[in-house]
Amino acid sequence: MENIKNSDLKPIGSKLLSWYRINARDLPFRQTKDPYKIWICEIVFQQTRINQGLNHYNNFIARFPDVKTLAEADENEVLLYWKGLGYYSRAINVHKASQQIMNDYHGIFPHEYEEILKLKGVGKYTAAAVSSICFNGKIPAVDGNFYRVLSRIFADDFDISNSRAFNYFSELAHLILPDNVGDFNQAMMDLGSEICKPKNPLCGECPLNNDCLAFSLNKVSEFPVKAKKTKAKDLELKYYFVHRNGQFLIQQRKDDFIWKKLFEFVPEISDKLVAFIVGVKTVSHKLTHKNLSIEIYNVEVDSEEIWQSFIAENNFIITNVMDSHERSFPKPLENYIQNYDAAYRIL
Ligand code: SF4
Repeated sequence: MENIKNSDLKPIGSKLLSWYRINARDLPFRQTKDPYKIWICEIVFQQTRINQGLNHYNNFIARFPDVKTLAEADENEVLLYWKGLGYYSRAINVHKASQQIMNDYHGIFPHEYEEILKLKGVGKYTAAAVSSICFNGKIPAVDGNFYRVLSRIFADDFDISNSRAFNYFSELAHLILPDNVGDFNQAMMDLGSEICKPKNPLCGECPLNNDCLAFSLNKVSEFPVKAKKTKAKDLELKYYFVHRNGQFLIQQRKDDFIWKKLFEFVPEISDKLVAFIVGVKTVSHKLTHKNLSIEIYNVEVDSEEIWQSFIAENNFIITNVMDSHERSFPKPLENYIQNYDAAYRIL
C-alpha cells in the first residue's frame, strides 16, 4: 500500500459515484433514510441474497415498523418473523438492541458511529453503513465486496482471511473515499454484486476498468487472495421425537453453542422409553464451520401411563404439527416435523 499512498486516487471514488447515480439498483430500502429500516436491512442481507430475503424483510418491517414495536414484541414472535433467514442469533440481537435504543437512547436511533456500534449485534460494517447512509458519517462499510473490489483494483495480494484484513482494506478504502460516503458504500455494494462479482466479473462494463490494475495485468482471477481455509468440524447430535396420538414433545434451547433459543426435540430419554423406539433417521446439515450429523429416533409411546409419567418427570412442551408452525425450529427438525404424516407416523 505504501507505494500508492501518495497518489491521488480520489477520482476512482468519484467515478464509482457517477456510475452509481445512473445504475443504482432500485431496492425498497433505498427509498428511505430511516436508520431503523436501514439497520434491519443491513442485518437481514448480510448473509442472504437480496431476492431471497426481500419478502422476509418486507414482512418483518410490516409487523415491526419501528424500534418501539420491535422492542415491545415477544422474542418468540420476532424469531418467527425471522424464519427462513437463518442465523437466528441475529434476530435475538436485533430484538435486544431495539430495547437498548428504547432504554438508553429514549427510543431515538443513535446518530454517531461509535454509539451505533454499542448496540447489541452491531459490528463495524453495519455501524458504518447506517451512520453513512442515514447521518452522513464518513466511514467506509468494509465487507467482502470491498475486499474483492479493492484487492483487484490495486492488484493487492493481502490475504483477506487475515485477521488484519478489515483494517487493511479500510485504510485502502479511505484512499478513494469521496465526500458522499453513504452513496459510495452502496455503490461498492452494487458494483461488487452486479459487476465485480466473485466469479466471472463483467470487467468490460465496469466503470473502474481503466483504473483496475488486475484487469490491466490480465490477472483478475488471481484476486482476492485467500490463504487460510477453516476446516468445518464434524459434530454428532442425537434427538428423540417422542410422540403419542399426534402430540410430540419439544423444548427451547438454552445454550448458545448453536441454534440459540430455537425449539428442539427431546435430547435424552429415560430407559422406560427406549422400548418405544420404532426407527431412526440420520440427517446431515451444514452450518458455518460445522458439519452436523443428526440422529433422530422415532419414539412412538404406545402407553398412556408411560407418556404421562415422562411428561410429569420432565419439563417438555407438548405440541402438535399445527402449533409447531408458531415456533422456530432448526431446519432439519422442521423438515422432520413436515414429514410427520396425518396418521402421526414418520413417512
Ligand atoms: S475491472 Fe473487473 S476486476 Fe477490476 S474492478 Fe472492474 S469488474 Fe472488478
